[in-house]
Amino acid sequence: MKTADLLLVGGGLASGLLALRLKEAKPALKVVILEKDARLGGNHTWSFHDNDLSGEQRKFLHPMVAHHWPHQSVRFPGLERTLSAGYNSIPSGRFHDVLTKALGEDQIRFNAPVREIAATSVRLDDGTELEAGAVVDASGFKPDPALRIRFQSFLGLELRIAGGHGLAMPVIMDATTPQDSGYRFTYLLPFSADAVLVEDTGYLDDAALDIAGLERRIADYCSGRNWTVQEVVRREQGVLPIALAGDPAHRNRQHAAPQIGLAGAFFHPTTGYSLPDAVRVADVVAALDQLTPDALRQRIDTLSAALWRDRRFFRALNRMLFLAGRPEDRWRVMQRFYRLPQPLIERFYAGSLTPLDKLRILSGKPPVPVGEALRALIQTPAEDTRIHA
Ligand SMILES: Cc1cc2nc3c(=O)[nH]c(=O)nc-3n(C[C@H](O)[C@H](O)[C@H](O)COP(=O)(O)OP(=O)(O)OC[C@H]3O[C@@H](n4cnc5c(N)ncnc54)[C@H](O)[C@@H]3O)c2cc1C
Repeated sequence: MKTADLLLVGGGLASGLLALRLKEAKPALKVVILEKDARLGGNHTWSFHDNDLSGEQRKFLHPMVAHHWPHQSVRFPGLERTLSAGYNSIPSGRFHDVLTKALGEDQIRFNAPVREIAATSVRLDDGTELEAGAVVDASGFKPDPALRIRFQSFLGLELRIAGGHGLAMPVIMDATTPQDSGYRFTYLLPFSADAVLVEDTGYLDDAALDIAGLERRIADYCSGRNWTVQEVVRREQGVLPIALAGDPAHRNRQHAAPQIGLAGAFFHPTTGYSLPDAVRVADVVAALDQLTPDALRQRIDTLSAALWRDRRFFRALNRMLFLAGRPEDRWRVMQRFYRLPQPLIERFYAGSLTPLDKLRILSGKPPVPVGEALRALIQTPAEDTRIHA
C-alpha cells in the first residue's frame, strides 16, 4: 500500500520548502517527509539577500523570516562600504515551527532514517519498506567525486554582549581579521541590541574544522571590538561546498530518485548557499501537472543542468580565488569585487550576472599574479564537465 504520493527523504531546507510549496499548490497531494532526527531543519541560520528572490518568492518565505534588515555592510583593510540591499534571516527553530504547523503530523515522520532509496520506495534503517508514487532525495550534501570543490567553513556563536554591540546592520564580510591559509572574514548578524551572531568564516582548501582555533578567533574579534561576552546563547557550524569544476548532471543520473538541495548540487557555486535554489526547485516542481517519477526526474535534472551551465563563470572565479596567488592575499580579490557597483554585486549573489557584469569583474589588473589568475580562469573549463570521465 502506498504511504504517500510523494516521499521526501530528509527534512531539511530543500525538503521543507518543497513540502510547503506543494501544500499551497496541490493541497490534495499526500507528501510525507522522512527525517532521521527529531526536528526539521537541524540547527542553522539561513540568510538571503532580497534580490536573490522574486517578490512572490519572498512572500512565500515571509512567515519564516525572523529578521529583515534594509542595509548590509562589508569591511576590508582598504574599504568600508554600506549597501542599501536588504538581507533576511530564517532561524531553523522558526522553520520547524512554521512547517510542523502547516503540514501537520501525518506529513512528517521524525526519527525515520532512510537506508535505501528507489524510484517509488524507500527502506528505513529498521527495515520498514515504504511505497510511494515517487521519491525525492533531499538528504543534504555528500562528498562526490563528480565535483571538484573547496570549502567555506565556519563556526558561528550567537552571543549576548554586555551593554550592546552597537551594530546597526549585518556585516556580510569583515575581512580585517588575520588572514591565514585562505580568505578569512567575520560575518555578523545583529538580532537585537545585545544579541549578535558572530561567524568566523574561511574559504579554505581543507574541510576540517578547527573548533578551538575558531573559538579563539571569535574571542579575539570580540575583544578587538571591545565587546564583553555575557553569554553564548547558541552555536552553529558548517562546511559548505565551493564548486571549482565538475558535472553533477552526470552524477544525478546515477541515482534512483531525483535529488534536490545540496544532495543535487543546487547551490551558489561561490557562497555554497542553497536557499534561493531550494525555492526555485520548489516552484518548478509545484508547477508540474503530474508528480510521476519520470516527470520529476526530467524537470529536476533539466533545471540542475541549466543552472550548472549558467554558473560556469562563478566556477572560473572560484578557481581564481583558490588557485591563484598566496592564500593570505585572497582577500584582495573580494575587496576589489566590493568596489564594483551595487547592482552588479546584487546580481552576483543572485547568480544572474549579465555579460557586461562578467567583463567588469574581469577587467583591470587582477589582485593576484596575472599569469596564475589566467591559468586558473582558463585552465580547467574543459575539465568542468569531465571530472567523472
Ligand atoms: C550552519 C549553516 C548555516 C548555513 N547558512 C546558510 C545561509 O545563510 N543561507 C543559505 O542559503 N545557505 C546556508 N547554508 C548552506 C545550505 O543552504 C544549508 O546547508 C541547507 O540546509 C542545505 O539544505 P538541504 O535541504 O540540501 O540539506 P539540509 O538542510 O542539511 O537537510 C538534509 C536533511 O536530511 C536529513 N537526513 C540526512 N540523511 C538522512 C537519511 N538517511 N534519512 C532521513 N533523513 C536524512 C538531515 O538530518 C537533514 O535534516 C548553511 C549551512 C550550514 C551548515
